[in-house]
Amino acid sequence: MAQVSFDSASRVYAGSPPVRAVDRLDLAVEDGEFLVLVGPSGSGKSTALRMLAGLEDVDEGTIRIGDRDVTHVPPKGRDIAMVFQSYALYPHMTVAQNMGFALKLQGLPKATIAEKVAEAAKLLDLEKYLARKPKALSGGQRQRVAMGRAIVRDPAVFLMDEPLSNLDAKLRVETRANIAALQRRLGTTTIYVTHDQVEAMTMGHRVAVLKDGILQQCDTPRALYDRPANAFVAGFIGSPAMNLHAAAVEGDKIRLGGLDIPLPRESAAAVHGSGLAEVTLGVRPESLTLVPADTPDGFGVVVELVEELGADALVHGSVAGESGDRLVLRVDGRTPPTLGQTITVTVRNPEELHLFHPQTGDRLV
Ligand code: ADP
Ligand code: MG
Repeated sequence: MAQVSFDSASRVYAGSPPVRAVDRLDLAVEDGEFLVLVGPSGSGKSTALRMLAGLEDVDEGTIRIGDRDVTHVPPKGRDIAMVFQSYALYPHMTVAQNMGFALKLQGLPKATIAEKVAEAAKLLDLEKYLARKPKALSGGQRQRVAMGRAIVRDPAVFLMDEPLSNLDAKLRVETRANIAALQRRLGTTTIYVTHDQVEAMTMGHRVAVLKDGILQQCDTPRALYDRPANAFVAGFIGSPAMNLHAAAVEGDKIRLGGLDIPLPRESAAAVHGSGLAEVTLGVRPESLTLVPADTPDGFGVVVELVEELGADALVHGSVAGESGDRLVLRVDGRTPPTLGQTITVTVRNPEELHLFHPQTGDRLV
């Protein structure tokens, strides 16, 4: 087990202009932690992981595993095991041979290899399949063999790059819970890459959000959700996404849906301090609620789409009147509004509003 740190680490691909695929990344992963790197496609997740694995040059900065500077150490000397999206199993080898292959290369005695493979097979529920070849396995089983291959090496760090993307939705949910449980049990420091924010939020002790090679925020799932550091993280984390709109501020009030909503003291002070007349206002779909039509602090929303999810329903609509801003709100699934209807909506609690700088996107409070 080990800590891992990126200290101002960059990977710059030559070209005109050069691509800063990972740009001065500062990230410290604790011993035993499950850290998820998440971001849209092309944000530098795989590059960051491959830099840590030694599969990619580090053009600036340093990378440490434990107290060792591994920036220029070849992959073999880093004591890490990686699970890729393509499981890269050897088709001509059995499950047991696939799982034990790295140990065989290390020259471990046969009996030791068999013991480690048996142990990992038990953890992964693969005991029945040890003699099979990969082609005779389901997608989920192959994924577990790939995990097994990493586990038998008992590395200081596990690296996983979208290891569930080849599985169907149901199996993905099941497998992500299994991987999280396995990691807890083994206690091995793990860095896990995904573009799926739900996967990130459900699996990570902490989640690091990348965009264009730049770390946006690294925090617990709860903190990312409740206090996103900028408008990008606010829009990226959470499903459906947070509603984000330009909103005018006047005095201690912010304008939403034609209403002036009083801001909490702290937010009002921050807006005053910034001297901004307009901010980017963020409201989560569950921070909006349906109210009776004559409620004084409610505003009209024309319903354009209702997604019934069972327990709740997602209502997509446009603010009636001038702004026409599109909004999504989460309502009780038993009595969803109908298409074309104008509903009355209010903000559940002004404390739940998020304010961002209209240009930089940075959180104001
Ligand atoms: P992610 O895994 O988040 O989808 P990547 O780390 O694969 O993103 O890529 C990050 C950025 O680096 C992208 O803009 C990608 O086009 C670029 N990139 C990746 N590999 C290379 C390469 N070998 N040469 C040039 N650019 C690359
Ligand atoms: Mg990738």
